[in-house]
Amino acid sequence: MASKRQIFVGGVPIGGGAPVVVQTMTKTETANLEATMEQIEKVAEAGADLVRVAVPRDKDIEALKTIVKRSPIPVIADIHFNHTLALKAIDAGAHCIRLNPGNIGGRDKVAEVAARATNAGTPMRIGVNSGSLPKHLHELEREAPVEALVTAAVEFVELMESLDFENFKVSIKSTNVPNTIAANRLLAGRIPYPLHLGITEAGTKWSGSLKSAVGLGTLLADGVGDTIRISLSTFHAEEEVKVAWEILKALQLRERGPVLIACPTCGRLQFDMDTVVAEIEQRLEAYVDPIEVAVLGCAVNGIGEASHADFGITGAKNEGLIFAHGKPLRKVPQETLVDALFEEIDKSVGSEGRVEFDEGQSAEGAKWLQRIEEENAGDLTPERIAQLEAAAAQEGDDITAPGDGEATGPAPDKVELDERASPTSGRRFTRA
Ligand code: SF4
Repeated sequence: MASKRQIFVGGVPIGGGAPVVVQTMTKTETANLEATMEQIEKVAEAGADLVRVAVPRDKDIEALKTIVKRSPIPVIADIHFNHTLALKAIDAGAHCIRLNPGNIGGRDKVAEVAARATNAGTPMRIGVNSGSLPKHLHELEREAPVEALVTAAVEFVELMESLDFENFKVSIKSTNVPNTIAANRLLAGRIPYPLHLGITEAGTKWSGSLKSAVGLGTLLADGVGDTIRISLSTFHAEEEVKVAWEILKALQLRERGPVLIACPTCGRLQFDMDTVVAEIEQRLEAYVDPIEVAVLGCAVNGIGEASHADFGITGAKNEGLIFAHGKPLRKVPQETLVDALFEEIDKSVGSEGRVEFDEGQSAEGAKWLQRIEEENAGDLTPERIAQLEAAAAQEGDDITAPGDGEATGPAPDKVELDERASPTSGRRFTRA
């Protein structure tokens, strides 16, 4: 359910079925032109489609005039409590103005900004935050916080419509993840305008990323949301962009750069997976192609579930195997595994995605893999347990370990998806 309306911020379409737009906000003092531009370059390189800058003072307006000219991506001016700054930011050429119509000083001042924005063709983001609802909604906020947030947003929408201004997107933000989810779902059903999603003050890189992934991911999976910003307590705005992309890539809403898949490891692990995966992840950042790279901690299961990956590695004892598209490429000493993997990736990237197999080396790798698999054929690895569970679920059988003839557990009860009953997401699993 993408929004019906579409707006353009600079040349970037938002809503109306356009790809979900990634945005972030600079952490620098905007008036510090060089520092702000440096951060904008970094976030653009990391994949931000839009960037927002705080404009709390006149000296920020001065910098803004240059920033909008030099920025490789459209710039949104973030204004609070001061409609004069909003007017000046429009005149400075900001590609969008973010303001809260509730704190800008009354209808006349909002009207003045709307008129100036109409003349300049500048869109706006209007929004409400859970911490700053209008006074008349405070009682409702105590009783029904979600309804209060949605009511405030709808009132602002009606205000802008009454001023003949419809070139905007809307945000409802809260530090509370379930309230953010519920409020945006409700709002998406009530207004046709694009929605900006975010969790306010989400937290550190670790906890904030998780909260954002849960809150925004839930909404995006339902088709709600047209642009996202991940708010993290870090001075490195590009980290916010990276997290946003991981969420979009996980939901297969957009593609950007490589996808790394890695087994969770277990007691069969044959090399220092922590170091290897971290190195591969870091080296993959230099690539723009959506290559899928798999890292398997041992070769006990063969290539198995990683057979769809463009490239992968696995290891046993002192040796390792590079594979591509489910087929062995070559066997290498384990200490050269990562370098050899990147040699193969580079060769492929340099020849438009083609992978050349040396049949002799591939056959040697396949033989090695087969030997490892045979030596460990009786092992119940996590992957084999998953395969057994899947097979048992299909047949409705108990799950039985190979060779021991004993059931290790009953097949699970039949699980049905009840689409209608939903406390949070419209979906709840109920036991039949
Ligand atoms: S058995 Fe599976 S989870 Fe364990 S190390 Fe091997 S590939 Fe990884």
